[in-house]
Amino acid sequence: MKAFSLNRRLILAVVASQLLLGAGLVLVGTSFSKHYLRRAFDVFLQGRAESMAALVYYRDDGVPGLLFNNAKIPPSRHRVHKDLFLVQSDRDNLLRYSPGFDPAMLGRIPANARFWRFHYKGAPYRAIILRKVGILDTEEGEPLPLPTLTVVYAAPTMDIDQQVSMLGVTIGLVSLLVLIPTLILAVWSIRRALTPLNDLVAAASTVSVDRWSFEPSQEARSTRELKPLIDAMQTVLSGLEEAFTRQREFLGDAAHELKTSLAILKSTLQRLLNKPREREEYERGLAIMNGDCLRLERLLNRMLQSARAEQRIAKGHEQEPEPVEVAATCEGALARMAQFAAERDVRLEFIPEGEATVRAEAADLELIWLNLLENAVQYSPRGSVVTVKVCAETGMAKVSVLDQGCGIEAAHLPHIFQRFYRADSSRARATGGFGLGLAISKSLVDFYRGRIDIESAPGRGTCVTVELPAEPGARGEGGGSRDRAASISR
Ligand code: ADP
Repeated sequence: MKAFSLNRRLILAVVASQLLLGAGLVLVGTSFSKHYLRRAFDVFLQGRAESMAALVYYRDDGVPGLLFNNAKIPPSRHRVHKDLFLVQSDRDNLLRYSPGFDPAMLGRIPANARFWRFHYKGAPYRAIILRKVGILDTEEGEPLPLPTLTVVYAAPTMDIDQQVSMLGVTIGLVSLLVLIPTLILAVWSIRRALTPLNDLVAAASTVSVDRWSFEPSQEARSTRELKPLIDAMQTVLSGLEEAFTRQREFLGDAAHELKTSLAILKSTLQRLLNKPREREEYERGLAIMNGDCLRLERLLNRMLQSARAEQRIAKGHEQEPEPVEVAATCEGALARMAQFAAERDVRLEFIPEGEATVRAEAADLELIWLNLLENAVQYSPRGSVVTVKVCAETGMAKVSVLDQGCGIEAAHLPHIFQRFYRADSSRARATGGFGLGLAISKSLVDFYRGRIDIESAPGRGTCVTVELPAEPGARGEGGGSRDRAASISR
């Protein structure tokens, strides 16, 4: 797509509007002045026509009839194109007209028209027609009705047209002259106004995957129109930086984990291959390798779960999930954990203290509880109890998983939800943990706008509490969940 300059567009817009304004001024100015000049011209025609009528008088030699005083005909305004007139009485057949006026033209004047336009000797003329004009002069004994006159007075209109075009040209020239300083001012102020935007562009162009800091100038920050954009960009960039860093760390940690698991597998294989061995030794070696493969498989599964949880967060809710009973999902997780707990001689205890419903995917909730239960069972001594409590408190569904296990040192607690973080990495191989379970759980809890907290003390056990926004109508005490209370497995 062809790039365009905002600067140039704005300047073009200013020039176009200035030209439009100039054209408008010419149009309005000329039509107004034409109108007023025409009116003044019509007043002049009227005056001239009335003065022509005033030149008619009664004969004073006793003979009845009317005369016209030729000597007092007013001079024409135009030197070349003379004024034309015609005075006709309805009695006595008085008819006077200027040289050049063809009385036959009277017949071409539209009936009752007051003004009339025509061309005479190549010049445009405008005429006024006064009908039934009384005679100014008086005569005693004149029989009624008194005679009346028809007066036609015409004058060339070139002067008006000339004045109007002169005015149009003057306005046009003045508009063009005004355009020059306006343009200079517009260019200057547009450049000035666009400075914060240019600063913003310059600041944005310095952002890259290696340099996330986005620092627009103070001028750009204090521009009201740009502030929401800057805020949005900063939010997006800090989110992107976080996602990028997380992604990088994840890749690094995942590669490290995979490399370690593969190295263990390889060393077992090499040990078996470096010299011929007994059948039992091969069998033992293969069994160890099988264990390593299972661990590798578990790691890949965990990584997949983690990636899916991240994907869910990135995509958001495609559809609002249906409400789901929290206790039912806990029961599902407890049932799946029963075998593992029994193998480790750990008793599972379920205490539903209230009914709680949340809008979430049942599978996501089960995964959260499974991760917490797996840790609780994993780090609990034989013969101990792991308790799952469900209750509803001030609009939140609360699930706690308590164990009587080894606990976690306080120094590890702030990092415990980070991916691949293990409180005791030396035990990782023994426990089969990768430091992903709590991170996955936290991602899912965050996705459902909840919170997850961990309380632990070495040797005194651990309690992980998850709170999720509950659907209205949840009850704090008893209810149907009470019937499920204390389902215990060993
Ligand atoms: P892992 O797969 O290693 O269990 P998690 O993310 O679930 O990964 O846990 C991270 C670390 O937190 C574990 O390696 C373990 O050291 C510690 N941890 C988690 N839960 C418990 C618990 N209930 N008791 C003791 N330590 C725990």
